[in-house]
Amino acid sequence: MAIDTPAKINDGDITADALRDQTRSWLASVLPEGWMEAVDSGDTDTYSKLRSALSYNDWCKTLGESGYATPTWPAEYGAGLSLNPGQARSVNEVLNHYRVPRPFNIIGIGMGGPTLIACGTEEQKMQLLRPLATNEEIWCQLFSEPGAGSDVAGLATRAVRDGDEWIINGQKVWTTLAHLSRWGMLLARTDPDSPKHRGLSYFIIDMQAPGVDIRPLVQITGDAEFNEVFMDNVRIPDSMRVGPEGDGWRVAITTLMNERIALSGAGSLAGDAAGGSTSEKLIARHRPVSDLGSRQRLAQLFIDERLIKLNNQRAAEKRRSGGEAGPEGSITKLMQAEFNQRLQKVAIDLEGPGGMAWEGQGTEPGAMAGFVSDVANNRSDISRTFLRAQANTIEGGTSNIMRNILGERVLGLPKEFDDSREKAWIDVPRSV
Ligand SMILES: Cc1cc2nc3c(=O)[nH]c(=O)nc-3n(C[C@H](O)[C@H](O)[C@H](O)COP(=O)(O)OP(=O)(O)OC[C@H]3O[C@@H](n4cnc5c(N)ncnc54)[C@H](O)[C@@H]3O)c2cc1C
Repeated sequence: MAIDTPAKINDGDITADALRDQTRSWLASVLPEGWMEAVDSGDTDTYSKLRSALSYNDWCKTLGESGYATPTWPAEYGAGLSLNPGQARSVNEVLNHYRVPRPFNIIGIGMGGPTLIACGTEEQKMQLLRPLATNEEIWCQLFSEPGAGSDVAGLATRAVRDGDEWIINGQKVWTTLAHLSRWGMLLARTDPDSPKHRGLSYFIIDMQAPGVDIRPLVQITGDAEFNEVFMDNVRIPDSMRVGPEGDGWRVAITTLMNERIALSGAGSLAGDAAGGSTSEKLIARHRPVSDLGSRQRLAQLFIDERLIKLNNQRAAEKRRSGGEAGPEGSITKLMQAEFNQRLQKVAIDLEGPGGMAWEGQGTEPGAMAGFVSDVANNRSDISRTFLRAQANTIEGGTSNIMRNILGERVLGLPKEFDDSREKAWIDVPRSV
């Protein structure tokens, strides 16, 4: 199988058109025969047949090993093309156009990988980046706790040093994909006598280690996409600490900034690959729409989606010149979450009675539930997607919190009052 090597595509002067051509010719060499022609000609039957026959796991491996799954990651770790975000957009345009299946591991690829690239050791990058890109090792994010969600810096899970290891005790909640994960990004308190933001450290935890207990939580959709995770004397080698001891908040901010990008419609899973509907797909599905009110709602969705795309492009250009993700990711995280809820509302209204039913999915532990199943099996149910969208304004930070961040860190307004900020964490009253 002839594939472009990362070294070949990583040419600083390469034009967007040349990148698109290279991506197309690589796809032509690896996709089943007839796939690209079927997409180009709108032959959905042939596309669906070819898509169903494709092994999702094998395909993710091919995509990951080629570097196309994670085009901005440094090629030297065996899973990236070292492209800047603007160049990666050209690659992703072609992958999206040809409706290429993508890894469902949005947490690992969208947040874990970029955090390791920015803050991890060489050993961590060499060990962990490649299996992440190939979707062979799934990751989860262990930040939220029953007593610490929006105020995640107040968390109570403890990490206590024991020689070259850390011993972890505590509980996390809403941990998406924990039941399928090999690794977790864990934020834990290493110094309870420091103020809450300064006593945290960041670890990569083995989700299969003794003492990790994962219990699924069933959502409104009937899926069990997220979990409670209990950690009882779990040992983590110090080599799996990311960033200096006590500097976990800075590392966590890197994860959270990237989470906002991943949830803003700018991630590689945006569009078709996410299993959700875009305004154009919705318009195509219901065309011709004779009712004037519905036409107006669809037109507004189309405009809103364009605005999000343009804002994402602006943020990507800023990252291209200035390096890492900044607080402006909160703009499109906020816009995308509220847009998707409006979109799903219109979708379900236009669908009529058919929008009320869907095929339930397995809730047994280990089931490929929710968006995982949608992405892997190339399907989405309108009613399930509508229900799932209700979480968009909560997950990855609520819309209220996004507005706070925008006010303080983008517009420069005074900081929200928080009298616990400078107190030792141990002295701050807590309910849990
Ligand atoms: C589908 C889904 C998946 C998730 N996946 C993960 C995951 O994988 N890993 C993980 O760590 N977490 C995950 N979460 C948790 C998520 O990050 C939290 O739910 C979120 O940050 C809100 O925290 P909370 O639920 O504790 O609500 P709270 O923080 O208790 O907030 C309750 C309400 O108060 C408001 N509020 C709180 N503080 C302020 C403030 N300072 N100013 C204004 N309003 C405020 C909030 O906006 C909200 O309306 C997930 C959540 C969902 C819904």
